[in-house]
Amino acid sequence: MKTAEIRRRFLDHFVRAGHTLVPSASLVYNDPTLLFVNAGMVPFKPYFTGAETPPFPTATSCQKCVRTLDIEEVGKTTRHGTFFQMNGNFSFGEYFKEGAIRHAWGLITGSQESGGLGFDGDKVWVTVLGPGYHPDFPDGDVEAIELWKQMGLPADRIQLRDLKDNYWNMGVPGPGGPCSEIYIDRGPAFGPEGGPAVDEDRFLEIWNLVFMQQELSAVRAKDDFDVLRPLPKPNIDTGMGLERVAYLMQGKDNLYEIDQIFPVIEKAAELSGKRYGADHDDDVRMRVVADHVRSGLMLMTDGVTPGNEARGYVLRRLLRRSVRAMRLLGVHDPVLPELLPVSKALMEESYPEIATEWARTSSSAYAEEESFRRTLAAGTQIFDVAVTQAKEAGASELGGDQAFQLHDTYGFPIDLTLEMAAEAGLAVDRAEFTRLMGEQKARAKADARAKKGGTVNTAAYRTLRDAGETPFLGYTDLDVTSRVRGIVANGQLVTNALPGDVVEVILDETPFYAEAGGQDADAGVLTAPGLQLEVLDVQRPVQGLVVHKAVVNEGELVTGAEIRAEVDPGARFGAAQAHTATHVVNAALRQLLGAATHQAGSYNKPGYLRFDFNAHEALSPTMRSELEGIVNEAVRDDFGVTATEMPLAQAKALGAQAMFGEKYGDVVRMVELNGAWSRELCGGTHVRSTAQIGLVDLIGEGSVGSGIRRVEALVSTDAFTQFASERALVSTLADTLKTQPDQLVDRVERLLGQLKAAEKQIADLRQRELLGNLDALVAHAVQVGGVTFVAATLPGVSAGDVRTVAIGLRDKLAAQAAVIALVGGQAKPVLLVATTAPARERGVAAGRLVGVGAAQLGGKGGGKDDLAQGGGTDASRAEEALAAIRAALPQS
Ligand code: ATP
Ligand code: MG
Repeated sequence: MKTAEIRRRFLDHFVRAGHTLVPSASLVYNDPTLLFVNAGMVPFKPYFTGAETPPFPTATSCQKCVRTLDIEEVGKTTRHGTFFQMNGNFSFGEYFKEGAIRHAWGLITGSQESGGLGFDGDKVWVTVLGPGYHPDFPDGDVEAIELWKQMGLPADRIQLRDLKDNYWNMGVPGPGGPCSEIYIDRGPAFGPEGGPAVDEDRFLEIWNLVFMQQELSAVRAKDDFDVLRPLPKPNIDTGMGLERVAYLMQGKDNLYEIDQIFPVIEKAAELSGKRYGADHDDDVRMRVVADHVRSGLMLMTDGVTPGNEARGYVLRRLLRRSVRAMRLLGVHDPVLPELLPVSKALMEESYPEIATEWARTSSSAYAEEESFRRTLAAGTQIFDVAVTQAKEAGASELGGDQAFQLHDTYGFPIDLTLEMAAEAGLAVDRAEFTRLMGEQKARAKADARAKKGGTVNTAAYRTLRDAGETPFLGYTDLDVTSRVRGIVANGQLVTNALPGDVVEVILDETPFYAEAGGQDADAGVLTAPGLQLEVLDVQRPVQGLVVHKAVVNEGELVTGAEIRAEVDPGARFGAAQAHTATHVVNAALRQLLGAATHQAGSYNKPGYLRFDFNAHEALSPTMRSELEGIVNEAVRDDFGVTATEMPLAQAKALGAQAMFGEKYGDVVRMVELNGAWSRELCGGTHVRSTAQIGLVDLIGEGSVGSGIRRVEALVSTDAFTQFASERALVSTLADTLKTQPDQLVDRVERLLGQLKAAEKQIADLRQRELLGNLDALVAHAVQVGGVTFVAATLPGVSAGDVRTVAIGLRDKLAAQAAVIALVGGQAKPVLLVATTAPARERGVAAGRLVGVGAAQLGGKGGGKDDLAQGGGTDASRAEEALAAIRAALPQS
């Protein structure tokens, strides 16, 4: 049975039982504690914690998941994919254990003709929480045990396990409860008897049923937590690994051989000329390739681009590891253009967005492979230097910092470093490398969490939000009288704040725009008689709650007090200008580069905007000015700006552009410029019509990571100011050069020409002067053993000029046996030695003499018999150098 069919059957089974079908959330769903969605329940978390009211009593989904912790395991175990699909059914206070177990059992063992999966009930094992592990369950989860027995499971296939295995919590205070895992026995060929407690490879976990029935007040570890109270309405959360069920039903030995993955392995085998199944190490490499290519495809489809931080870094690693694994299989040509389309063909039946995003994802992946290939070339050089250094120092291993630098800066995977080091006869300090990697990982995680102004501990915010979301009145009102609902300091609720304190203030309603959709937060003040706070930042750290970070300048702020919230109108108008201008730039870019151009991020604040988009090459100067032209034409055309709320589906049908990774509700706000000229989903604040933007001045265009370009622009007054200062610069230049602005270029070109001619003239003069002095130098020549020896110091004369003099002297004395030795140089001494042909016939070689002289200067030298150059560090020893050369001449 195909994987897509199993998915369909699962969802149908629960839809038939009344569950609402919820589409998979994006892998980069907005959860500040996670890099990627890693379980089916993630999008439902607010319903389980009680932060939001579920819009349906029961739901089912097939959720895309990525678990980065499993990256190193892929291909080695048989059951872990970095990307996998988790089927789930969820009940929010509707049914509980009985329903969960009955539904699961019905689907697993129901006949295939009746829509079930048709597993043999005799192969099913389950685990449940056993007795004695938790005071609230002294006899274990007797309810679950009893229910499994009712399904017909004998007691010996119901295994009792501890809290680590069979109690679930979120790692933070909130819901928790016992769980029950379902396993399928793959048979004696795969391991010993004894059930999952003995062997989790033979007995394969396919489904976990979580019974949330308690509220936890503290969680110290998986098996160490405090129970606050039983949940008034218990919930069900289940997760079934789709790929695991697929490989069982397709009679395969591992997850990578299912229909959605295996053809990539076959392609890898074909490209490398290796046979899958012939060699264990090669097999693992092919599985890594197949897994990573698929995960990469799914991540890119959801808007992740390869990069060096957090999410982009995980994607980069996945893509690079697959390229690297193919190299180890002997393929050195680009591989992603061969492999990625295979994975696309396999996955797009279940995920049509793969096809619509393909132009963007494929070019991004191929560009990443190209840049990795360059990396490999560069990294190999760095590696060679590191090896040489290690060997020269007599070390038997490469430093962990070097391995880490190769990894971090050059994207060199550690296994590559290990292997190449082994080839060079060296080990690698892995412990140090691992420590540095740990630090790096922590940074990536902190990165995901460090939302400006936010904090990971959201408990205080959630408490405040329970009283309702903060209505945003700022589309129309900038000055509102409200009430202080709460004050948060360092993540804790407090009741007051005094002058100098920086606190977070939550109001009943607010005119302040919280940073979102690329638009920076509003500025302004909070005031009451005798009280004044300046707003520094405004964020929404949990959904729907607006938090004003502010410093108390005067008076005492207390919870419950009435307060006036005033947005700085000038700053707000500037923000609106910049935000509307950002939409104009987006539309203009699409007009210029085509509809495949895709926003990859933006930021705007009064007077400034930047906009990131996908493109693999820079905008040419012509395109830049064309872009600026289109943008400013749209400003002059004075397009009307309207915002309309409508259902998401309607906005999509109208072609409104959405931002990747952004979470949209059922009702969205669509901002239009001149009707269909620009349509974007956007919650930001805008001007009434584009003419209010005034002016947009494109100030830069550049790369921000592979495949992403950024344009930056100044808006309105800032653009005028920029132009004004450029004009001032031009007129100062014109004054200085005593010409008219329109003659400036001519004038500068002419000046440059004159300068060049003058420099040439100076050089000629100097040479003539140097060569004119040759006779004076010859006059001081001495005879040494029948050779004319001309020696002189020419302090401050450049190396090139010393050479000219040396050659001039040699020519002048060509008829006799002569040796010329000159020391000159500017910062450092330079030594030149020249010999004439008759001198060389006597066995005098410039190359040898220069070494003798340079040694006196603290350096080295070398060259041919007729002319040689050397240098050193100590110019004060010029006379000693010349004397040493003289002494080295044949003395008779
Ligand atoms: P395991 O112990 O095998 O890693 P888990 O306890 O981490 O599994 P859960 O967090 O309970 O798994 O997830 C629910 C289901 O999702 C599991 O029963 C399994 O079928 C599936 N699953 C979990 N991790 C993976 C993975 N990396 N690849 C494929 N399926 C997975
Ligand atoms: Mg796991």
